Amino acid sequence: MVHRVHIGIGSNLGNRRAHYQKALELIAALPKTRIIKRSSLYESEPHGDAKNWYVNGVIEIETEFLPDKLLQRLQAIEQAMGRKKTPQTKKWASRKIDLDILLFENQTLDTRTLKIPHPEIQHRRFVLVPLSELAPHLTHPRLGVTIVELLAHLKDNKRVMLLPPHAE
Ligand code: ADP
Ligand code: MG
Repeated sequence: MVHRVHIGIGSNLGNRRAHYQKALELIAALPKTRIIKRSSLYESEPHGDAKNWYVNGVIEIETEFLPDKLLQRLQAIEQAMGRKKTPQTKKWASRKIDLDILLFENQTLDTRTLKIPHPEIQHRRFVLVPLSELAPHLTHPRLGVTIVELLAHLKDNKRVMLLPPHAE
């Protein structure tokens, strides 16, 4: 069975756009998976302690992986790209690449290692802005309101700025 999934991608270390593109390539190369849509890229002010601004965006994929297998694949990509994960790694720590499963069709899941929808969607402008490009009228399976409605009620004041596409 094919599942429609939204993935949030972010990088705030080194060549952020290159890391973003590399992650897209590695996701596109996964078996039983294809990228359907990709949002514009944005530059967003970090939350928490991190100093560096992020390059981030959202993609929509079709995949035959189940949620836990998809998470494993995404974490393998994070590791292959050199994201360091130690017990000391703090939430919000700077990273070359962060891949989050935002929505997995209309499924809900709440385990120690995987929460779907991603529990922070409704609090993060840097997620809602690109997600609203791809799926403005999609209803959040727990909150029962659409992405544009979440964006309209959002209190997050962190800045999110559209990045112009690179001149090729
Ligand atoms: P964050 O993205 O919150 O800054 P991490 O990327 O380090 O932090 O993720 C920490 C843990 O979050 C992962 O080890 C993973 O098991 C868990 N997690 C829970 N739900 C999700 C999800 N929907 N997508 C990705 N990771 C998730
Ligand atoms: Mg993450």
